[in-house]
Amino acid sequence: MVPLAICLLLMHCCLIASEHPDLYSSQYYKIPFNTLEQRLVARIQTVESDIVYQDLAALYIVYDRHDKLKSLIESKVSQETHSFYLFAKAYVHYLDGHYTQAQSNYELAYQLALEPGSVSLKQRKWVLTVALYKAINEAFLQRYTTSIRDLSELRESAASHEWPIMAAFADKLLGDVNYELKNYNAALEHYTRASAALPKATVVAQAVMNMHRAQMININGNTLQALSILDTSIETYLVYQHTTALADAYLLKSYFLTKQNKHKKALIWIENAVKLREMLAGKASLANAYTHFSGALLDNGDIARALYFGEQAVELANSRDDLALQWDANVIYAQSLYANGQYKLAYQFMSDGERALLKKARFDIVNEAARLNNDFNLKYEQLENQALKNENQVLETELLLQDQVKQRQDEMMILLILSLGALLSIVFVMYWLYIKNRRLATFDPLTKIYNRRRIFELGEREFAMSKRYDHALSVLMLDIDYFKQVNDTYGHDEGDYVLKFVAAFCQGQLRIGDYVGRIGGEEFLFLLPNTALEDSEKLAQRLCNELHAASINANLRVPNITVSIGAAQLDAQCNELSDLVNCADQALYCAKESGRNQIKVYAPHHVPKTAGSLARIS
Ligand code: GH3
Ligand code: MG
Ligand code: MG
Repeated sequence: MVPLAICLLLMHCCLIASEHPDLYSSQYYKIPFNTLEQRLVARIQTVESDIVYQDLAALYIVYDRHDKLKSLIESKVSQETHSFYLFAKAYVHYLDGHYTQAQSNYELAYQLALEPGSVSLKQRKWVLTVALYKAINEAFLQRYTTSIRDLSELRESAASHEWPIMAAFADKLLGDVNYELKNYNAALEHYTRASAALPKATVVAQAVMNMHRAQMININGNTLQALSILDTSIETYLVYQHTTALADAYLLKSYFLTKQNKHKKALIWIENAVKLREMLAGKASLANAYTHFSGALLDNGDIARALYFGEQAVELANSRDDLALQWDANVIYAQSLYANGQYKLAYQFMSDGERALLKKARFDIVNEAARLNNDFNLKYEQLENQALKNENQVLETELLLQDQVKQRQDEMMILLILSLGALLSIVFVMYWLYIKNRRLATFDPLTKIYNRRRIFELGEREFAMSKRYDHALSVLMLDIDYFKQVNDTYGHDEGDYVLKFVAAFCQGQLRIGDYVGRIGGEEFLFLLPNTALEDSEKLAQRLCNELHAASINANLRVPNITVSIGAAQLDAQCNELSDLVNCADQALYCAKESGRNQIKVYAPHHVPKTAGSLARIS
């Protein structure tokens, strides 16, 4: 009991893990048929492996060897539930023209192929292989739209997996369906693309593609070129023993020759094709061969044989699912019967043929309607997608524009801020220059007290006010004694230092409302509004004394500093400020003359106002 269970388990594992042959492996397309067959048969004898059986069956499928494939499959009836054997069985049905049965077997094979889960690449390739064969069978069931859609998808899938031979055959099958639909240009495109996609070494596959291309080229009117291409394919088929393709090629050649009205020659080639198909091909191909052969015999006046093969063709075709084949066979047979004078019978077969044609037309119309509907839906979807795309584009453009506007706004803002900054800087610089200028126009840069210009401005104002309101106004003129010696003895810097010291001292002694300014090198002018001469005299004296005292205590290199001061008061004689300043200057001169370090007061009421008179100075 236990060993049996293990056995079953092992069998199950084998089945699950079993690998299917690769029908698109390059070995099938670059090694001659006989060589490969012998190799595989020899391996079967030594290994007896299921995989090798499958490889051999795959070889027969690739080479359309209905004869060999059928017997091989029959020996494997026990494998009914195996994806590959179901697939092979479906293929035999397909070659026999039993497309409905073929389809159901393909479906089963496909389901089984999916079952283990698409784990390995090989497994996925197998699933795709079954799907491809299933899709081409659909075309024979007149489901052209589905067939084309599936084949196109499968082709893309094969191409994206980089399975070039498989992708090329998907293209070839698309060419076949388009040929069936009389879309010859599309068919030629597919065959050409298939040929281009194939690896160079796969000569057998190339020959197949070229043969189909030749067929299209002939339809387009270039029979000579088509014949030459076809002959090259025939050579390859002979070398590689692709006998079924050879039969196809002979049939095609006879067709090309018929087109050229070379009926005798055409008959020879079709006879060759018939012989080969009788030997190897499935019933559908044979019916097709007999039909054409019968036609050729009729063309050549051999009515007896035309009748014989015509009848055979009808018999074979009528038991197939192929309506086009039935139409062809019945019509050809009817023509032979007609030629033989059997009009009634001819009429009967012609009617049968027409019935098949009508049936086919009905199918075709239904399919065409479905295709048109499909196309319409597709176009509608495409338009809808395009509209959505356009809408998206508009939105994107809008967003882009908004972004651009925002960016422009930001840029403008930055520009504005920068301009504002620049403007503020300019205003600030101008203000600073103005302040600096005003300070320069007002203050003496060395001593930081009022300069000559400003003190005279203030003097003019005070002079006018005092005159108008009859207020007192006194001025003091102060000059540092022997200042030249300070410069000469201690240097100009020390001289400057002394000037600053004197200025600061004078400034410190001022009362509110009084002003002092530097009017020359070491000369200072005091404006003392509302101050009578007596008070100004006191101030002058205090200045003279305290400056001297302060200079002794100050950190100067000069031992001490003395100053001379001249004081004057505004009176009726003074018409202008300069008159008053002149008076103070005269008093100062007098102080200098009197030995310096002292003050002198100008007293106009004592003496007549005469310039330079010392008598007026007290
Ligand atoms: P006096 O007692 O008669 O006034 O004699 P003094 O030497 O003071 O007079 P004087 O007019 O002969 O000399 C004035 C000197 O003041 C001459 C000049 O070199 C100096 N001086 C004028 N302006 C400046 C200044 O800004 N800095 C310095 N260090 N010296 C100056
Ligand atoms: Mg002087
Ligand atoms: Mg002096």
